[in-house]
Amino acid sequence: MTRLSVNADLCIGCMACSFVCTPNVIKMIQNDSIRIIEFGSGCLEDCDKCIQSCPTGALKLQEMRGGDEAVLRLEFNMITCEKCGAYYSTKAMIDYINAALDFDADWLWTCPRCRQGETIIGVK
Ligand code: SF4
Ligand code: SF4
Repeated sequence: MTRLSVNADLCIGCMACSFVCTPNVIKMIQNDSIRIIEFGSGCLEDCDKCIQSCPTGALKLQEMRGGDEAVLRLEFNMITCEKCGAYYSTKAMIDYINAALDFDADWLWTCPRCRQGETIIGVK
């Protein structure tokens, strides 16, 4: 039996693992200003989709040991779009992307919908 091992310092709350985990061992709970990623214990599935999908290497599968039943919940603050005010990303995700870029990306601070509007206006 295996369990998930999560490096909380590396997790940015991107939801990629919860999207690919069809048995719902990993769940995402969202309200406007807070996103929670809940990692269940005792993953019985013979797969590693969550590990393959994680952009930061925060996940590993390890052998289950006694006392490993706890569920880990990580909580992330969401940030709002500078244009429309909608919550659109965790702050940790934006910081992660920003650190990976070697140029100033103003578009990072707007939501995908507002970015799309800018592209369409730019094409006209
Ligand atoms: S290994 Fe597969 S089933 Fe297990 S938590 Fe990851 S995605 Fe879900
Ligand atoms: S894919 Fe990785 S970084 Fe994204 S929420 Fe899951 S563990 Fe965190």
